[in-house]
Amino acid sequence: MGTNGKIFAEELLKKKSINQKECIIETEVSNKASETIFKIKGTSRVILRGDSKNTNSIVTAAHEIGHVINNKENIKKYLRFKYTSYILSLIMILSLILVIIDKFYHDIPLGVLLIFFFFSFSLSFYSGYVKVVDEYGANKEALKLLYKYSDAIFLNHNDPRNWKNIRDEAKSQLKRGIKRYKESNFIITIFSLVPVLTYVIIHIFSL
Ligand SMILES: [Zn+2]
Repeated sequence: MGTNGKIFAEELLKKKSINQKECIIETEVSNKASETIFKIKGTSRVILRGDSKNTNSIVTAAHEIGHVINNKENIKKYLRFKYTSYILSLIMILSLILVIIDKFYHDIPLGVLLIFFFFSFSLSFYSGYVKVVDEYGANKEALKLLYKYSDAIFLNHNDPRNWKNIRDEAKSQLKRGIKRYKESNFIITIFSLVPVLTYVIIHIFSL
């Protein structure tokens, strides 16, 4: 009796006619956040961590399925999301290599280094922005799914809950999720500053 996140997620996939070749739901005992590993052609995996019958597990399930649906419906947006972080990592690594080449092998004009530093710094903001937009999208879809399907799914599993009595909890949980995302964005920016900081440290201390 009652449903947990996994059952709920599987029901949502059925409602959206997404079959098991396209997406499977896994659970894991862990304190880490749940995630969706999306595949354009293969089977996407939704990993629900610390899944339970609690309402927050239901809401998390809806959020992750929201990611799956959004990615499927807008592959371009998904690719932008995916490649932004790839390009950022690539520029950071290149910048770091240039700093090392400049120091030990061959002088590189300061202007060139500055352009790389600037790109990696500004791309970190863009990357943070793209991630937050992605999370907003998943939340919006999650609320739609819960509004449309939760009553039927709860009823189907003899679960006494319904959309009306989980609505407030769902909304505040999803809001908190976005807030956490925004707050953790500074980490990407700090990472993006690693090359310029390396450059400054090398030059200040004349290593
Ligand atoms: Zn998410």
